[in-house]
Amino acid sequence: MGRVVVRCAEGHLFSTGAFPMQNLGPGRLGPGRLLRCPRCGRLRSAVPVDLGALSGEEIARAWRWDADALA
Ligand SMILES: [Zn+2]
Repeated sequence: MGRVVVRCAEGHLFSTGAFPMQNLGPGRLGPGRLLRCPRCGRLRSAVPVDLGALSGEEIARAWRWDADALA
């Protein structure tokens, strides 16, 4: 099960292994899922992010914020 980079409603990028990738595909990135954002510390609606739309630095930063580590 791969991990995905998601963006919370506040715009924070973080990663999680708890997102159901089987529901995702090209052009099918919504709706979000309620996850605890490690940067807000609150439950937020988070949506998966297309890695192609992010810079390498943004992706690296998102991997360091692990939603599951706080669960
Ligand atoms: Zn957040």
